[in-house]
Amino acid sequence: MFNLFKEDKSLEDLSISEERYRRLFETAQDGILLLDINTGLITDVNKFLIDMLGYSKSDFLKKHVWEVGLFKNEDEQKENFKILQEKGYVRFENLPLETINGKKINVEFVANSYRVGDETVIQCNIRDITERVKAENKLFDIAVRDEAMLQSLGDAVFACDKYGIITLFNKKSEEMTGIKSADAIGKHFREVLTFVQEEGEKRNDGFIDRVLTTNKETVMEKNTLLVSNTGVKIPVSDSASPIIDSKGNSLGCVVVFHDVTMERSVDKAKTELVALASHQMRTPLTAILWYTELIKSNDYGQLNERQSQFADEIYNAGKRMAVLVNSLLNVSRLEMGSFIIEPVDSDIVGLAKNNVSIFKTQIYTKKIDFVEEYDPEITSFLADPKLLGILFQNIISNAIKYTPPGGKVTLSIKKEADNLNISLADNGYGIPKNDQDKIFNKLYRAENAKIIDPTGNGLGLYIVKEIISHSGGKIWFDSKVGKGTTFYISYPLTGMSKKEGDKFLVS
Ligand code: ADP
Repeated sequence: MFNLFKEDKSLEDLSISEERYRRLFETAQDGILLLDINTGLITDVNKFLIDMLGYSKSDFLKKHVWEVGLFKNEDEQKENFKILQEKGYVRFENLPLETINGKKINVEFVANSYRVGDETVIQCNIRDITERVKAENKLFDIAVRDEAMLQSLGDAVFACDKYGIITLFNKKSEEMTGIKSADAIGKHFREVLTFVQEEGEKRNDGFIDRVLTTNKETVMEKNTLLVSNTGVKIPVSDSASPIIDSKGNSLGCVVVFHDVTMERSVDKAKTELVALASHQMRTPLTAILWYTELIKSNDYGQLNERQSQFADEIYNAGKRMAVLVNSLLNVSRLEMGSFIIEPVDSDIVGLAKNNVSIFKTQIYTKKIDFVEEYDPEITSFLADPKLLGILFQNIISNAIKYTPPGGKVTLSIKKEADNLNISLADNGYGIPKNDQDKIFNKLYRAENAKIIDPTGNGLGLYIVKEIISHSGGKIWFDSKVGKGTTFYISYPLTGMSKKEGDKFLVS
């Protein structure tokens, strides 16, 4: 906006300024009209406006601003002119105009009054914003379409800014939470949405914080429930994704979730079936193993070499089957959340030694140098001996399985700071890098493991990880292919945490 004149300018200054202004007036990239404040007569018009609208200079001059055909509604314009006379200023952000050729354009119209000597002049700046309006309309259409799409989605979708404030809340979110979008928008997601764990009902919305701090997609923890505003608990699942601008800056995140009541009940039924079937299989399997052992003992008749070989085959296959059945039973009990953790004062070193001795035949046959290092300060530790046994057996059997004959395995239990640390190091085949982030997944086996021992089931480490995470411990590992693997388990010195339930895990 040009406003070069001040009331107190001297005449000389004024004429210099006038000259400058004239040049600016003629070369300006905005259309400019000058009006007489008292009459509304157009006193001047610049080239840019003449070109913009296609009228000749004489079409404009000596006419009232409301007469020149620019402004469709003359009465309204007279009204506006009155306001301009009173306030000395009017502004229209988007005024639709028509050029002499009937082309519709949009302009921004700003009128200001100022004084030149004794005269008050009104300057109207008219800027063609047709392209901007078109672009804005296009953006608006896209936004409307996106909004319509989001609203009609079968999934609940909400978005929050980087501070966790909700900026979008679709219809399905309203339906599932019972909270209106108008009440949700502008509030922190924690004030509006309650996600809890199925078991224990602790808040379970860390996945949203994680995406906001790491800018990486995160998945809702398993067994998450959404608590609606009326207290109804709906099993939900899904993920949160970061919203990142073109420069890589975080703008917030989008959370998508849906009702998985059906899937959860199917899963539950499957787990219960596995639990039941594996439990039922234990009794006949025990009989098979027991009678095979009797046959192998030769107490009930001498076996010839082939018979003895076949009996060994039955026995070994039965043993493998028993391990699988126990693992399946444990997995189903872990997944139903019904397992018990009952920590008691335990001789953890004695327990470790017993569990190593279970593998003495394999250690001997593979000529493994098995080293045991126990901190003499450790006398007793609050732990569930059965669960500790499952942990030891799984990691020890893996270390032996995945270490070539003649290798070395070191089991150590130490008190360090406030923790009891167990480590099991082998110098075996190692875990390939690509498999490392998946080996705690159910049924996952690394490619090299499938070749080294085709009989594994990929359930052991899953069970170990689940036990540890439910009992207040941590597990992690270091591994290099060809160099070996070390598993670390750490518990606070206060011991394993207790858990109520109705089923024990089996070993
Ligand atoms: P598995 O029955 O296959 O041994 P686990 O669940 O116990 O199943 O282990 C999962 C996978 O982790 C194994 O298949 C193997 O790829 C890898 N793994 C576990 N322990 C070791 C180890 N000490 N050395 C190398 N790989 C290991």
